[in-house]
Parts: sequence; C-alpha cells; structure tokens
Amino acid sequence: MQLTETFKTGLVEFIRRTSTELPEDVKQALQHARTSETPNSAAVNALKTIQQNIVLSQADSTPICQDTGTLIFYIDYPLGLSTLQMRKLIQDAVAEATTKSYLRPNAVDSLTGKNSGNNLGREFPVVHFEEWEEPYIRLRLMLKGGGCENVGAQYSLPNTKLGADRDMAGIKKVILDAVYQAQGKGCAPGILGVGIGGDRETSYMISKKQFFRKLDDQNPNPALAAIEAEIMEKANQLGIGPMGFGGKTTLLGVKADWAHRLPASFFVSVSYMCWAERRRTMKFYDGRVEID
Ligand code: SF4
Repeated sequence: MQLTETFKTGLVEFIRRTSTELPEDVKQALQHARTSETPNSAAVNALKTIQQNIVLSQADSTPICQDTGTLIFYIDYPLGLSTLQMRKLIQDAVAEATTKSYLRPNAVDSLTGKNSGNNLGREFPVVHFEEWEEPYIRLRLMLKGGGCENVGAQYSLPNTKLGADRDMAGIKKVILDAVYQAQGKGCAPGILGVGIGGDRETSYMISKKQFFRKLDDQNPNPALAAIEAEIMEKANQLGIGPMGFGGKTTLLGVKADWAHRLPASFFVSVSYMCWAERRRTMKFYDGRVEID
C-alpha cells in the first residue's frame, strides 16, 4: 500500500469534518435531552444554544467550539507501512488544517509558555499506532477539549474518604464522585469514559478510548453494562444539568471497560468529554478515502 497524496488531502478533510461536524448520535442525544427537560427552563435554553451552534458550525465549516482541543489519533495499520511516514503526513495535515482555521493553535510549550502556532510540538498531536491484520488503514481522531480534560479524575481504591472499597460498589462510588465534583464544569451534558484496573497510564488510556463508542451502543459485558446504566441514571438525578444550570441531563452517556491489575493496585480512571464530542473515523484503502 502506498501513502499517496490522496491520503494527505484526506487527512485534512478528516480533521475539518471532525472539528466542524458533530456525529449524528451525539446530535440525537442532545435533541432527546432537550425534549426531556422542562419547557422554557435554563436547561432547554442552554441545549437550544448548543444545537444552534452545531448547525451554524456545520453550515459554515467553522469549529464547533473555540477550543479545538488536543488532537488524539489512534491508527490501526497493515503490516509493512512506515509509522514514521504516517506520523509526518499527519503532522503536515495538522499544520495545514490550522492554517485553514479548522483548528485553533493549541500547542503551548509547557516550559516557556510559547504557542507553536501550528498545533505541532512535543507529544502534540498525540498519535497511537497499532498494527492489525486488515488490508486498510483505520484512523480514529478525537478532539479533546481542555475544560473537560481538566475535570477528569483517577481514583486509587480503596478510597477511605469516599468509603469506596475494591468492589463494584466502590467503583460506582468514585465514578459518581467524579461527576459530582465536575458540577457542570467541562461543559455538561458530558460523556464519561471509564477505565477499571490496569496501571495508571493504561487505565486512563482505556477510559479515553471509550469516547469512540456510539452513545446508543450496548456493552457486551453484563457487569459493565450494569455500571453504565446505573451511573447514567444516578448522575442524571444529581440535578446539575446542561452547563450546570440545573436539569435532568447531566450526562449523555457512560462507557466503561477494564484491564487486569496488580494485586497491590486498583485504579478507576474517569475521563470526561463535553457535549462537543468530536470524533470521526477515516479509512484508507489503497488510493481511496472514506470518512465516517
Ligand atoms: S469543554 Fe468542550 S465545549 Fe467546553 S470549552 Fe472545552 S471544548 Fe468547548
């Protein structure tokens, strides 16, 4: 397989669509939230404004939110391709998408405070590569906003302050605590990605990968499906509501997965995604691009 010019132009279009068009399932969840809230409430008005913003962004091809976030790519690729070459093409596409204003320049040097101006820097964008057995490249991209990233949390069980032990009840207690602590910051209604187990790094990685799941999917693991349903129900009874204005919709979805852990550690990682859940998938088949 050759990484042709089509791959590079496809990448720029992929970034444009991710930044300016919200996925259909997220739009539907926001509409459902709006119809569930009390008419003329602050919650309805907040959701209405969010929806108007989504329509305008798509029509004008402008970013859905001024914070176009951290670009996080997950690339699955067939045997024989160069990850160095793919990384270079991704970096070129990110710089071009920034020039075209599909992205805000967001990469700040943590030591000097200087913005690189083109979204390129150390570990920026974030790119995860994994070889797979399919004959095509699958690229998944999420734009992870700063506000919602700030309210993510990692818990080490047992947590005596919350009375959370190393069991299902303890897991649910800390997840709900993360929602309570966020209090609408990070632009509710949000989506939770939960990683149970692993080391600290893996646990967070698992939690973030959950954001590629469709909001209406069903977790095949019954224990995880039960956690997702219970947290969704209880979080939406907290009354935090859209943008923290109060209401029935604090979360649009909860997605969880797990990994083995050491006997000595039990981490539960909660990543929070704002209503602007910008995620897309691009597939590259020898010379042809598909964006979903
Ligand atoms: S949390 Fe999301 S919606 Fe809020 S400012 Fe950041 S990117 Fe925008």
